Parts: sequence; structure tokens; C-alpha cells
Amino acid sequence: MKRLLIWASNQANLDATAKIKERHRRYYQTHKEQIAQSQKQYRETHKEEILEQCRQYREKHREEIRIRCKLFYETHKKEAKKYREAHKERRVINKEYHRNMRSQALERLGNKCLLCGFSDIRALQIDHINGDGYLERKQKLKGSKFYSLIANLSDAGLKQKYQLLCANCNAIKTAENEEQAKHRKRLEEAIAV
Ligand SMILES: [Zn+2]
Repeated sequence: MKRLLIWASNQANLDATAKIKERHRRYYQTHKEQIAQSQKQYRETHKEEILEQCRQYREKHREEIRIRCKLFYETHKKEAKKYREAHKERRVINKEYHRNMRSQALERLGNKCLLCGFSDIRALQIDHINGDGYLERKQKLKGSKFYSLIANLSDAGLKQKYQLLCANCNAIKTAENEEQAKHRKRLEEAIAV
């Protein structure tokens, strides 16, 4: 008898859940556009908040996401290859866009090394004057996105943050900065003792 009662109560719960689900489905069907509109509005007014939540989520689930992406790639390798082959022109367009953005960015920075005047653009590098390039790399600001930012920055903003150096001068600057940082550290340690 007790079993029967439990079964009846479970059945009633299931029926009630199904009814609620059906009501939600009907409501969604008849208010589809309204819901989409209000969701869009919410996304627009809470843009920063949503971006921050996404960033926090990615940070917290980094390893899990990496494994999931790898697994997805492994199981969809064939489709990915097929897509790449069917859209070969995309690669050419992307490459072209990247080259175009880089050339615009270099042009804005004078197309030659600020220190020695070297002008073969294949060996020119955009240097962060204050050495804070890691912050931009952390925000995934690199490649075409980075060049596009440079190409569109105001003159004042540009000269304050970036300069063009050849690979040699940039390597020397990095080495000297590291040397200076080590020297500062040694001095601080000596003072602390
Ligand atoms: Zn140089």
C-alpha cells in the first residue's frame, strides 16, 4: 500500500513537472521575439559585467576548457579539415588582412627603427616603451587585432606607448632592461641587509 502511495505521488509530481514544462514551452513559443529582444537588451546594458563573468569562468575552468577543446578537436578533425579545404580563400583573406594591418601599423610608427634607422620591415618590431606588452598579451591583444589598434590610435596615444625598433635594437633594449632590473634588485637587497 505504502509503495503504491509513493508511486502515485511520484506520478503526480511527474505530471505536474510535465505540465509546467509544457506551459513554459508554449509561453516561449508565443513570446519568442519579446524574449529575444529583452535578452539582447540585457546583454547590451550588462556588457562589461558579462565579459567579466566570462573571464572569471575561463580563469576558473581553464584546464577543463582546454581538455574539452582538445577532445572536440580530436573528434571533429575530419570536419575541420573539410571546412578548411572548402574555405581555402578564408586563409588567403586572413593573411592578406594581417599583412595589410601590420603595414598600416608600421607606417604609423615611421617604417624604420627609431634607434638605428634600419628599414627592412621584415625585421621591424613594435616595442612597448614602458615594457607593459605582457598586459596586452594577457588580454589576447595580438596579431591583426593589435596592429589594427595601433593603426587607429591617436597620435598622442601612439607616441606615448609604442615605438618601432629593429630586432637587434629591441633585443639589446630587452637585455639592458633585464640587466638594470637585476642591478636594482641587488641594490635593494644590499640596502635591506
Ligand atoms: Zn635598430
